[in-house]
Parts: sequence; C-alpha cells; structure tokens
Amino acid sequence: MRNQQPDNSASLCARAQARPDLLSIVCPAYNEQETIVAFHKAVAKVMRRLAQPYEIVFVNDGSADNTLRLMHELRAAHPNTTIIDLSRNFGKEIAVTAGLDNAQGDAAVVMDADLQHPPQVIDEMIQGWREGYDVVFGVRRDRKDESWLRRSTATLFYRMMNSVGDVPIPLNAGDFRLLDRKAIDAVTKLREHHRFMKGVFAWVGFNTKSVPFDVEPRHAGKTKWNYWRLWNFSIEGFTAHTLAPLKVSTYLGIVVAILSFVYGFIVIGKAILFGDVAPGFPTLAALILFLGGVQLIVLGVIGEYLGRIFNETKNRPLYFANDAMVRNIIRLRALA
Ligand code: UDP
Ligand code: MG
Repeated sequence: MRNQQPDNSASLCARAQARPDLLSIVCPAYNEQETIVAFHKAVAKVMRRLAQPYEIVFVNDGSADNTLRLMHELRAAHPNTTIIDLSRNFGKEIAVTAGLDNAQGDAAVVMDADLQHPPQVIDEMIQGWREGYDVVFGVRRDRKDESWLRRSTATLFYRMMNSVGDVPIPLNAGDFRLLDRKAIDAVTKLREHHRFMKGVFAWVGFNTKSVPFDVEPRHAGKTKWNYWRLWNFSIEGFTAHTLAPLKVSTYLGIVVAILSFVYGFIVIGKAILFGDVAPGFPTLAALILFLGGVQLIVLGVIGEYLGRIFNETKNRPLYFANDAMVRNIIRLRALA
C-alpha cells in the first residue's frame, strides 16, 4: 500500500548511545493556559522515569491568554526551559519550525501542548532512535474522539494526496514524532513559507519507523481547528506538496477542448446538412456556462500556485520573535 510509509531499514545501524545526551521537547502552544502546566508536569515525570536529560522548547504562538506568563513561571522553576515568544500567531507549522530552530538536543520530540500525545510513548520513540532510526513518528491507533466527518475527510485527503504525490505521507501520522539531529537540521533547512509539516517530514526522508499510540482526549481547552481551517490546511497541503492539481487542470482543459471541438463539428455538420435552424439556445447557454466554469476553476488552481510563488519570492523570514529565552542563558525581561 502506498499510503503507509514502509519502515525503512536500509543502512540501519544501532547507535552506541542508549539515549540522546540531550532530548529537546518542542511544544507549540496557542492559548493553552489550561494545559501547559499539566503538560510540563507529565513530560517531566516521564523524563525522570527514563533518566533522560532533556530541555523543553516552548513556542508561544501569539497566545492571547496567560500561556506566556505560565511558561515564564515554568522556566523560573525549571532552567532547562526555552521560550520562543513569536510576535503574533503564525500557525502551528511555523511554530514547530521555530521550536526546532532553537532545539539544542541530539534529538527532538515534537508534541502538542494539550496532552493528546501521551508522553510515555517517548520511551518507545527513544528505543527506535537507539535502533538507529532517525525519524520515529507516532501513528494514531484510533481517532474515535473525532467526529465521523472529520475522520473520513482526513482519510480521503491523505488517500488523494498519496495517489498523486511523489513522496507518500503516512496515513494517521500526526506531528508527534522524534527526530534525530540529522533530521532536525534537514527540516530546518527547508524555509518555504507554505509549509505542510507532514509533507516536509516525509520529504526529507531518512530511516523512518512508526510507533502506534492512542490519542488521548484533549486535557482541557478547545481545539484550534474548525472545518474552514482544515479546508485551508488541505489546500495548503496539496499545493505545497504536489503539482498534481496543475496537471489535472491541463488534462481537464484538453478533455474539455476536445469535447467542444467534436461538438462544434457536429453543430457545423448539422447546419450544413439540414440548414441553420435557430433553436439551440439552451445548448449554447449550457456550453458557455460549462466552459466558463471550467476556466474559472482552472484559473483558480493556477492562482493558488501563483499566490504561493508570490509569497515565496518576497523571501521574508518565516517568523519574528518578541524574545527568545534560550535554555541556560539568563536574560530576564519584564513579564508581559
Ligand atoms: N497550535 C499552535 N498554533 C496555532 C494552532 C495550534 O501552536 O495556530 C498548537 C496548539 O497549542 C497545540 C497544537 O498546536 O499545542 C495542536 O493544536 P490543537 O490541539 O488545537 O489541534 P488538534 O489536536 O485538534 O489537531
Ligand atoms: Mg489537540
């Protein structure tokens, strides 16, 4: 099956170390005041049990609540905390990138702040790392907390994407994953603005393994996704990851042009053979509307790509940060 990325074990060689010398936990957070403290506690507990040296890289993605203040409190109590405070809400994909940019570990685990990604799975991810895998990603065993509509649209989206894309994206893989330093450096080298992290992670390659996990219900607070955001996310995913819609437009154009040509011949033939009879307005109207519709769709597709090219050529930095308080650097500022 194409949609399940094979556990790639070519050139696999177990690592000499039992665990990374330093593990970075990268956590993007947008209005997570209800969950962030519980998140920190749960992660710290697992790290203690595993005797794993770690740092937490919090990225405050323009939260409007007390998330940043709580992060500062956590940092005051735990010096192994980095806070990247983005200048506004940039969206999760960019927040994750900002976190990875500032991760100092030999490996990093990207996880959501809402405890939907169970921290105990990190244990299995580290085992995978020890076996020599550079990317160990979590695969949701069950998405039963989500509505039927969301689950089936997500499945449809990844099926479609994988049937046209060049690099398969694993079904049900979230952003919960461990990356070796090699993979972190590769991912942070890709500076495109329209980033679709799952596509980026799949594109960089490396030895990859999956570990199944059960998604927990959100610890507290609300999901930041609604159908409109998900729709935009899918368009982003498609256009950032594949040129297939452009090709489809071309073929659609060709097919419609051939059909119109054939129909044109029939109309002309009829007029020559049987004389020009005036009726036929409905056919004409239908044809014009149909062709107009097809043209608009195709133009829209081209526009989507053009807009992205426009954004990329501006060559802006991916994000700005109000402040980056990196682990071990004592640089205090007035708390917002
Ligand atoms: N998030 C973010 N920026 C955003 C939206 C979400 O950093 O603009 C973070 C959010 O705080 C959480 C993670 O991304 O840590 C996943 O978000 P959420 O739980 O809302 O998504 P879901 O689990 O429903 O897919
Ligand atoms: Mg969530």
